[in-house]
Amino acid sequence: MPSNEIYTLACAGLKKLALNQECRDAFDKNSLFFKLFDKAAHRYIIASDEQELNRKLHCLADKGYQLGVEYVGEENHDPQVVQRFVHEYLSAIQRFADAGLKPQLGFDLSAVGMLISQETAYHNASTILSAAAQHDIPVMISMEHSSAVESILEVYAELAPVHFNVGITVQAYLHRTVNDLSRIIGYGRKVRLVKGVYNESPDIALPRGHELDARYLALLDELLAASVSVSCATQDPNLIKRLFEGGYHLKINELEMLHGVQSDVLRSAKETGLACRIAAVYGDSWYLHFLHRLAESPDNVLEALADFYAPSRITFGAGY
Ligand SMILES: Cc1cc2nc3c(=O)[nH]c(=O)nc-3n(C[C@H](O)[C@H](O)[C@H](O)COP(=O)(O)OP(=O)(O)OC[C@H]3O[C@@H](n4cnc5c(N)ncnc54)[C@H](O)[C@@H]3O)c2cc1C
Repeated sequence: MPSNEIYTLACAGLKKLALNQECRDAFDKNSLFFKLFDKAAHRYIIASDEQELNRKLHCLADKGYQLGVEYVGEENHDPQVVQRFVHEYLSAIQRFADAGLKPQLGFDLSAVGMLISQETAYHNASTILSAAAQHDIPVMISMEHSSAVESILEVYAELAPVHFNVGITVQAYLHRTVNDLSRIIGYGRKVRLVKGVYNESPDIALPRGHELDARYLALLDELLAASVSVSCATQDPNLIKRLFEGGYHLKINELEMLHGVQSDVLRSAKETGLACRIAAVYGDSWYLHFLHRLAESPDNVLEALADFYAPSRITFGAGY
């Protein structure tokens, strides 16, 4: 059994690989890594194309889950790639409306033009939000590396007052979140509370551990006291146990997990009557998403190797 230190370092190593620009540039549908691990990545990636996506979403909805959907993309510098990404969301909104689905959409502002300018990100996010609002579809903005948080919050400050269907993800590990939260609460929109996924230095963020769990719960208390809609997005069985022991499950709006992770834990939570959302990711640019899932629990590396060897181990919907 590897020691805790090896786990922590393996986790940091996988996150470093996830953000490695050379690896990311080398990754596309023709790359060797894609060909080798595409099947294993589909433990987490719900679908490659829209037809498969809608069929699977219906299946999870029929089981009583709330749905979240994100088209897996990368930070985009190229205006044409950004436009294609926005177009994918606009088409997806129409497809969901036609299929009678209302999943919560999610995306990174860096995928809709933040690396070109804040105005571009604002404009594109606004376009998606307005189209989604026409079909009563909510949108959740993700939170990115600490270097991007200030600009994300600045764009969110413009979006939140005018788009009733927008919400934002808040990272409990960031020290600055303690100060940012009251401003975010002030908009009155939905907040998704996560621990945070990136490698960050101790002067910027807390590492995993008791102190972070305590801060997560303190931030949650603040959100609940302000009566904003809250999603607890965590896959941590211990933290979820504390949510139930502390009676939070009666006060939060939902528990949310990524598709393919801890399905049995989410199902048990749903069986208590708590609304549970499966955040599903689709598309082919899965490098970052896949590496982050492996990093969250380095045992998943073994799982991925087993899936690579025997892809039939992956059964859609198993455990939910
Ligand atoms: C719906 C959703 C949206 C998110 N959006 C963002 C975002 O916008 N920005 C951001 O920075 N982060 C985001 N995250 C990631 C989040 O910040 C955490 O990195 C991630 O949820 C892991 O933290 P945790 O609390 O789930 O568990 P951790 O504290 O990381 O792990 C505790 C334990 O939980 C279990 N566990 C956790 N993840 C897994 C897994 N993948 N497989 C198996 N076991 C696991 C393991 O037992 C692990 O030891 C999101 C997460 C979710 C679920």
